[in-house]
Amino acid sequence: MSKDGIRTRTLVGVPFDAESSYLRGAGDGPPRIRKALRCDSSNSWTESGIDLGSPGAFEDVGDLSFSDKAAFDSIESAIRKLLDQRRRPLSLGGDHSITFPIVKAFAAKYPKLTIFHFDAHPDLYDEFEGNRFSHACPFARIMEAGLAQRLVQVGIRTANGHQREQAKRFGVEVMEMRTLPASESLKAAGPVYISFDMDVLDPAFAPGVSHREPGGMTVREAVAHLHAIQGDIVGADIVEYNPVRDVDGMTAWVAAKILKEILGKMIPG
Ligand code: MN
Ligand code: MN
Repeated sequence: MSKDGIRTRTLVGVPFDAESSYLRGAGDGPPRIRKALRCDSSNSWTESGIDLGSPGAFEDVGDLSFSDKAAFDSIESAIRKLLDQRRRPLSLGGDHSITFPIVKAFAAKYPKLTIFHFDAHPDLYDEFEGNRFSHACPFARIMEAGLAQRLVQVGIRTANGHQREQAKRFGVEVMEMRTLPASESLKAAGPVYISFDMDVLDPAFAPGVSHREPGGMTVREAVAHLHAIQGDIVGADIVEYNPVRDVDGMTAWVAAKILKEILGKMIPG
């Protein structure tokens, strides 16, 4: 249980990549990101002045374990359990398909959820290569099930005709990469969930992803947008870090940096 009824920031690994359409490997991401987070080459303070190394600043409940077949149900019930313990879970993926079962659990607790989704891709396909649960589809599943009151996408630069139609159909607020900065769109009155796909970053900064999409954010732009978020951040995920594609572990460092700054924005209470 989390202490004193405080909503503790809680790290949980979701080592799952069976819904990746192009390349597997993201399932091996969580331990690499943790290792970078804990490395002594940097200190434990966020830029906003929070010491994540202080006792109780966050807890780490380790990686979930499940079979590929039972993955979505297992992920949803594990997150539900963490929420029942009054925690604020930050999930480390894994491919982006995990966001659907995670958000299902959040929506049961927070019916008026706003999602801020950072990604090169809209992930709004009705189905991708015959698969409705592909990592290309989670936000179509989330929106058609009414699991979010608002979906704001930031950094998009691959929208095709179908996905533009889907965005219109679901009333998605799309802040394309070419129109950034989009800080004004990152304000929410109610509970906020952040879903951060590492490929929103330019591959020059984060080559360790399955789908390298040029023309993306610098690390600084991503951090600035995260800092601009206003709202009560109840949970988050960082997905699509793929160690197989990484160069000297540099993307794991970037993921750890993003992780720190998101944790810093999740105020316990
Ligand atoms: Mn994605
Ligand atoms: Mn993506």
